[in-house]
Amino acid sequence: MKIAVFAGDGIGPEVTREAVRVLEALDLPGLVLFEGDVGGIAYKRHGHPLPAETLEIARSCDAILFGAVGDPDCDNLERHLRPEQAILGLRKELGLFANLRPAKVFAGLEDASALRPEVASKIDLLIVRELNGDVYFGEKGIRILPDGRRQGWDMMSYAEDEVRRIAHVGFRAAMGRGKKLCSVDKANVLETSQVWRDVMIEVAKDYPEVELSHMYVDNAAMQLVRNPGQFDVVVTGNLFGDILSDQASMCVGSIGLLASASLSDGKMGLYEPIHGSAPDIAGKGLANPMATILSAAMLLRHSLGLEAQAARIEAAVAKTLADGIRGGDLGGSHGTAAIGDAVLERL
Ligand code: ATP
Ligand code: MG
Repeated sequence: MKIAVFAGDGIGPEVTREAVRVLEALDLPGLVLFEGDVGGIAYKRHGHPLPAETLEIARSCDAILFGAVGDPDCDNLERHLRPEQAILGLRKELGLFANLRPAKVFAGLEDASALRPEVASKIDLLIVRELNGDVYFGEKGIRILPDGRRQGWDMMSYAEDEVRRIAHVGFRAAMGRGKKLCSVDKANVLETSQVWRDVMIEVAKDYPEVELSHMYVDNAAMQLVRNPGQFDVVVTGNLFGDILSDQASMCVGSIGLLASASLSDGKMGLYEPIHGSAPDIAGKGLANPMATILSAAMLLRHSLGLEAQAARIEAAVAKTLADGIRGGDLGGSHGTAAIGDAVLERL
């Protein structure tokens, strides 16, 4: 089992260090870690945010644990040299087409949510967002109309096979959770969504234990706030998923706790906290490493098939939080290493 560790910029190295300590404490037989540079630090050392050496390491590993990229020093670089290009490049080069974001309110943290505590406490859902299609990658342009007005246009499209592979990711995830899948589209208006919905119904036949429902995206946005407890797995396209996954994050409320996975067809996946490099607190030992530790748990589950070990990490995190250990993002006073220590003790 080979894991690439790309810590990146800002608080990336600090939070990644704690996640690595947790992985090492599990004593997984045959586990080897390989470090590589990404982001601003990679630009400074190698002249590129995603150097060939780093890509090479990624390709030779089963999974990537990723910290964060972003560096104020790089703000004036040409777009292709900016730190953020590292993550976009990895997604493209490794065919990472499925983004998974679990949103769950841990016991004792109901107050961090933007929702009422009794509503927030019921949130335990997973958003599965397609990453490689939709309006992001369709033809687009700005044209000048005969009367001189500028008109922008973006083509939204999904082919059946693109929907099918994300559908399988969603259904497999549902099998490992509450066995409910809600497919979100806008089939009353969009042809893209009609294809999307038909394929979801077709793929559902392979997973008879999973209960499939459909929801229009506008209703889904409302239901996420009104009654998020009704959702288990939510599968949706790139654009709707972009919006709904941020919305779901804030329903939980704590940026330092939220993990994510980006998966490919095979074992390879990239796992990272949803927060960025947080330059304002970098190097101070203040960052909450929980999101990265939980990303490491997702790595064990999705890329290495180590469900029991993943659950062990998640239980240790839940216990740590239940015991009142809080980072600054949650109004607490525990620093990065202290939180890491607390999780390790409970592991
Ligand atoms: P980037 O450009 O890399 O996305 P950013 O400036 O958008 O960086 P974020 O990382 O998204 O910053 O963070 C937004 C705010 O949340 C910052 O004030 C940051 O300090 C805080 N924050 C982010 N992650 C954490 C964390 N793990 N622990 C504590 N605070 C955090
Ligand atoms: Mg940001």
